[in-house]
Amino acid sequence: MLLAEQRRLLCEYGHRTAEAGLVVGTSGNLSVRDGDLVAVTPAGAALGRLKPEDCPVVSLDGHPVEGDRTPSSETPLHLAVYRATTARAVVHTHAVFGTVVATTMTELPPVHYNTVLLGGVVRVAEYATYGTPELAAHVEAALDGRRAALMANHGGVTIGDDLEAAFEATRLLEWLCEVYVRAKAVGEPRVLTGEQLAAAARRARRPAHLPRPGDGTARPDHPPHIHT
Ligand code: 13P
Ligand code: ZN
Repeated sequence: MLLAEQRRLLCEYGHRTAEAGLVVGTSGNLSVRDGDLVAVTPAGAALGRLKPEDCPVVSLDGHPVEGDRTPSSETPLHLAVYRATTARAVVHTHAVFGTVVATTMTELPPVHYNTVLLGGVVRVAEYATYGTPELAAHVEAALDGRRAALMANHGGVTIGDDLEAAFEATRLLEWLCEVYVRAKAVGEPRVLTGEQLAAAARRARRPAHLPRPGDGTARPDHPPHIHT
């Protein structure tokens, strides 16, 4: 079986996505890239019951390579992201708080400094019918420089160097959306300024155990690139 380990991981993270309540029914899909091949969850699948052989393998340009099941309807979106970024995994869910924000806002107001872990303020991609090249293009644009995007009146999508990173980004995105929605129910949330986010991003680039720059401390050679 091609991409056997990647297909096993798709099932593991599919199960975790369902168990975490990030999808209902057959919503949501995941994929993982290895070279020019992509393993993706099948269309109409309950992510909590996936088996490795259920997950088809396609080429980066969308041609079927292995597997009996039809690839997810959002395969064009996953492939557009792989062609445009260095991501190795994509997770798409209909998580509740993310969908609430995606239904009401044009971006997720940065009320918590951990916004910088997603590469900056999360944008809401313009609405288009699910599974279409238009939706893929809108999501690709919204992801520019980010590890997450919301999809208007639909859900969210996150990317990572592997499935664990993309899954954790989805959990963080949902947590940030929940904090915003709950804060909004209590009062008008304070939104962090660009300067406050930039300071958090600088802090995130510095290893926690080292003294402040200026104390003779070297920065890491390749700090994460964080947009604010
Ligand atoms: P698939 O079952 O085809 O993956 O579609 C689910 C979904 O979330 C569409 O956006
Ligand atoms: Zn969807």
